[in-house]
Amino acid sequence: MLRDSLRGFLEAHWPGAGAVTRARDPVAIVALWRGLTDQGLAALGADAETGGLRELTIAMEELGRGAAPAAQVGAALVNLALASGASGDDALAARLLDRVQSGRGIVAISFGELDPDANAADLARDADGALDGTLRFVDAALGATDLLVTTPDGFAWLDLADRGVTITPSRALGADGWSEITLRNVPSTSIALSESTLADLALVAALLLLARAHGAARRAFELVVDYAKERRQFGQPIGRFQAIQHKLANNLISLEGVRVTIEYAAESHDLDLADWRYSANAALAFGRVALRQVALETQHAFGAIGYAEEHEAPRHFRRAHLDTIVLGGVRVARERLAAHLLDRDDALLPEYDLGACGNALRDEVRAWLTEHWTDARKAAFDAQPFHDREFDASFARDLGRTGWLGLNWPAEFGGQARSPLEQLAFLEVMERADAPPRFGAAVQANALMMHGTPAQQQRYLPEILRGEAMHGMGYSEPDSGSDLASLRTSAVLDGDDWVINGQKIWTTTYWGRYMFLAARTDRDAKPAHAGISMFIVPMDTPGITVKPAGTMYDGHFANIFYDDVRIPRENIVGPLNGGWKVLTDALANERGLVGGGIVLKVAHGFDVLCREIRATPALRDDALTRDRIGQLAAEIEVGRRLMIHCAELATSGTTPPELGAISKVYSGELMERYGEAALELLGARAALSQGAPGAIANGRFEQQLRHSLMWVISIGTNEIQRSLIAQRGLGLPR
Ligand SMILES: Cc1cc2nc3c(=O)[nH]c(=O)nc-3n(C[C@H](O)[C@H](O)[C@H](O)COP(=O)(O)OP(=O)(O)OC[C@H]3O[C@@H](n4cnc5c(N)ncnc54)[C@H](O)[C@@H]3O)c2cc1C
Repeated sequence: MLRDSLRGFLEAHWPGAGAVTRARDPVAIVALWRGLTDQGLAALGADAETGGLRELTIAMEELGRGAAPAAQVGAALVNLALASGASGDDALAARLLDRVQSGRGIVAISFGELDPDANAADLARDADGALDGTLRFVDAALGATDLLVTTPDGFAWLDLADRGVTITPSRALGADGWSEITLRNVPSTSIALSESTLADLALVAALLLLARAHGAARRAFELVVDYAKERRQFGQPIGRFQAIQHKLANNLISLEGVRVTIEYAAESHDLDLADWRYSANAALAFGRVALRQVALETQHAFGAIGYAEEHEAPRHFRRAHLDTIVLGGVRVARERLAAHLLDRDDALLPEYDLGACGNALRDEVRAWLTEHWTDARKAAFDAQPFHDREFDASFARDLGRTGWLGLNWPAEFGGQARSPLEQLAFLEVMERADAPPRFGAAVQANALMMHGTPAQQQRYLPEILRGEAMHGMGYSEPDSGSDLASLRTSAVLDGDDWVINGQKIWTTTYWGRYMFLAARTDRDAKPAHAGISMFIVPMDTPGITVKPAGTMYDGHFANIFYDDVRIPRENIVGPLNGGWKVLTDALANERGLVGGGIVLKVAHGFDVLCREIRATPALRDDALTRDRIGQLAAEIEVGRRLMIHCAELATSGTTPPELGAISKVYSGELMERYGEAALELLGARAALSQGAPGAIANGRFEQQLRHSLMWVISIGTNEIQRSLIAQRGLGLPR
């Protein structure tokens, strides 16, 4: 509601046309702020119940979107700092709060010498509180009445109408952006605040500016998406070119990453969660780079039209840059994350609250693993070559006894009907324990529950649930990879049997009890996918030849030849020629969690990487290493937030396919970046493989790098996913 009402207000009172000119007029700026005060913006932050940081970030996004130069940050910080009584001088606090909330006081703020940017202030304060010097890069000074400058022990509050004050607009990125304020013996009032409060306020200010940059970058992005649907070149809309589609898909991924991390940081601040500072720094470390990249690429897609100053895009380009380089920029945010992870023994990534049920399940699974995944059992498992470490039949059966293999299945099929957040809790604990990665047959079970006959459900689901039966996926063929609909393996009805002929390739779970096989049942179907049906093929049926081949990650997949393989008529799953729907429905349920599963692997590996770096002081203290760790930490946080977001959406319905695709694309490539960083930071020893003398963490890092490619290529390549994001998520033409 806040977002909608503010957007409506700004459209009426601060329309896009003329916004740049108006932003230079103090009278217009003051009128704008008075109007926003009537909308309640000047009081946001005073009381988390009626509007905390969450609402403030929304307000800032809308102000960024509308290019509206409002003194929101100053008002917010006054409310956040003083409404809680943190200053110790209630009368003074009440006076300032009243000025701000009534709209009489319009507050600009400067972090002065506390700003990590050494050029931001050059200030002296005498014993009576009079200030002399220069403040630079001050936001929202035009039209402001009051200035707050942080000093080592609080705020110095001064009147901008004082004759010792000079405000000069600073031209930045080719336009008026900030102001430079010179102070000549200007009296000020001290408002005492602790060092930690001031540090928190600076962090909040940075987050608010990031939110404003997000609003601006997203607005320009939305404009360019619309433009790409209309602008025609070479006889077609430019939005049909794959280069443009994938660029815009990348931008959407970044914008969603920024959105979910800002939201979470603000929410954790309002809930006073211990890790809110970590979350805020992660949002900053990711968003400060990502938004500038989005701004650049938005300009690319506009071509020359967006390069004209009369267009809206340039103002958003500037905003996305100015608001992301202040207060220490990305370097400071990354260093804070690195300090969190590298300067404390046993530091781990912050653990998420997965709700009461999720948290309880975490504990339950941990306790179960302590008993069933003992050090001795794990050591024996780890000593095996990797290709034997994907699946442990006895462990799968043990898990089968817990019922957790049907964690998310409906009760009617013997499942526990648990939520996606509980599923994540389960997967996270399994990952952290380095338990065997393969169990169950989630996609095939989905297909059976959604499209199987009662007889099929009774026959196949219980053995999946008990951890006894694995099902492979027989989709890809030598000439049908991404273009799966072109597959040629045929199934022909002969009496009471289907007779299957053809070749499948790259089948991973070729050793499973059954194959979930896609075959053509109508050669003439148009479109081609309308002639495909799905089958359950027992792998001990005569006529099946399996030729395994080693994979780059030390696993195996197989070429499988089906020669006159006869299976009973009732083994078709779903309607004849209706296989495409069976296949996509079965995946749809899982898609939202695929990315999450990858992120959990990266998050756990990253904890191990940080442990390795902490153990080598020269590395731990190296500035470039710390910067890279801070960057990765932020990127992992984005992956984790996208994962939770998908899970929350799945809880309240289904995850839109483009969101699952965003999470999948992001996390596969995150895993690649993590693997590359680990090798680069730890050096040659990290490239030594399992069992090689001197290998770090038993070759985990290099193995994960090799494994990461699989996540980018399989389950729909990332290029195919990007096209899906562009077409389904952004509505660009096919
Ligand atoms: C480790 C691993 C395990 C696998 N396990 C299984 C399994 O168990 N069962 C199974 O059936 N399959 C499995 N696969 C196969 C997987 O599904 C395919 O690799 C995938 O669908 C891509 O097909 P392809 O390899 O033929 O690549 P291609 O489709 O030939 O693609 C090659 C390149 O061209 C790009 N490309 C193709 N079409 C387009 C397009 N329209 N627009 C833009 N770019 C495009 C792709 O993105 C890719 O970069 C596995 C693959 C791997 C790597």
